[in-house]
Amino acid sequence: MTEPARLLTSDPITVWQIICENLETKLPRQSYLTWFKPIEPISYNDLELTLGVPSRFYFEWIESHYQSLLDLSIYEATGEKIKINYRVDPNLKKSAILRQKSGKISFDNKLAPPSRIGAGKPTNLNGNYRFSNFIEGDCNRFARAAAISLSETPGKTPFNPMMVYGKSGLGKTHLMQAIGNYIVRNNNSLRVLYVTSEQFTTDFVNAIQSGRTDAFSRLYRSVDILLLDDVQFFMSKDKTLEEFFHTFNSLHQKGKQLVFSSDRSPRDLDGFDERIVGRLQWGLVTELGKPDLETRMAILKGRAEENSVILPNDVTHFLAANITDNVRTLQGALIHMIAQASLLGELITVELARDVLKNFVSRPMKSISIPRVQDIISQELGMPVDLLRSKTRKKDVVEARQIAMYLSTELTTNTLKAIGLQFGGRDHSTVIHARENVSEKMKANKEFKLMVERIRQKVELATL
Ligand code: ADP
Ligand code: MG
Repeated sequence: MTEPARLLTSDPITVWQIICENLETKLPRQSYLTWFKPIEPISYNDLELTLGVPSRFYFEWIESHYQSLLDLSIYEATGEKIKINYRVDPNLKKSAILRQKSGKISFDNKLAPPSRIGAGKPTNLNGNYRFSNFIEGDCNRFARAAAISLSETPGKTPFNPMMVYGKSGLGKTHLMQAIGNYIVRNNNSLRVLYVTSEQFTTDFVNAIQSGRTDAFSRLYRSVDILLLDDVQFFMSKDKTLEEFFHTFNSLHQKGKQLVFSSDRSPRDLDGFDERIVGRLQWGLVTELGKPDLETRMAILKGRAEENSVILPNDVTHFLAANITDNVRTLQGALIHMIAQASLLGELITVELARDVLKNFVSRPMKSISIPRVQDIISQELGMPVDLLRSKTRKKDVVEARQIAMYLSTELTTNTLKAIGLQFGGRDHSTVIHARENVSEKMKANKEFKLMVERIRQKVELATL
């Protein structure tokens, strides 16, 4: 490889242009156009390039799919290791669409400078996590209300410390970050620090190694609001726990606000000694539970809206019905689906959602039974279940029965033999015949295909 050129400019537009020229050579054209063309450079300072993106979904997608490629292009094109920051600018959505129409790249969009938060001190906050986009449901109502209340008067409510616990992917980090963002926005003089327990541990270990534990202690004890995420990470780290204990005491005595999260309740934090467990329970301990179907649908709707995507109701319902226990996975599937639709130029339909889900969730989708399929067919086609299971060879009965067999092979995990048995004791070759017959007809007859698809959706949605 030839030595990369050294960067001679500090103009963000030029820097980004140089990187793009390299990137274009590495990516399929469509991917480049979809993900990188709509980006607008905002600023470039001290090897940090801030890019404006049309939506949060964009940078999450870029980070999870193209980050290493982007890093490589940056290095090859500029000879530097440049850190990329992203900032969401909804205005870009419009210009992205316009530009795609005219086929031109323009860098003349005027953007507001990135907003400074935290009076210039690092807060580790991600401004995308807010109360306004933390959807309320039975699972989090209390935690959310308490979080808002303590954000209004940090350190002055009974919720100090606040300890929120719950399984992974249920919104703990989002809620803590929302607290931080709220306080920073409304009370700029307060010093907020969000930190993961892992980072706290690493910083502490480094401080010990370099003989700078005093500086470490001073830093952590100088904040007004400490948001410490995933404290279960401290389990069996006795020295760090000791330091945590002192940090806690120092801040709490001064009336500073403490917020902690953990994947289990304080009582279940093995190896935390009684003094610490006791303190974690001084204020409010609250659990984040799994969201119910309505809440999951509202979360999907909200997230789609943030990305300027309109999600049809049946698709929302389908995704929410099939991904039940983790909001992170739910949103991952949504993002994956939007990306697929935008890359392939497809509409967002239940079909597409089903396709995405197949690759997305490792466990099988909700189990669907043969009687369930028979029930729905019976309702949809006005055909008594008895007839579906009978030996009758009347034309309309045969057709309904074949559709039911076809959907049973598609949607249930039963063997062909088991399916045959539940349709009047037929053998597996009859099931194969039914399946082939229905697929052929679906190919040949659009209306028939739509009908089968509609019934399929009904079956899937009925299995909640
Ligand atoms: P945890 O920290 O509990 O593992 P996160 O806070 O990282 O979970 O949440 C995972 C994802 O789900 C994040 O993208 C977050 O924004 C989203 N999320 C979780 N709960 C909600 C909610 N009630 N409303 C909107 N988004 C949510
Ligand atoms: Mg988290």
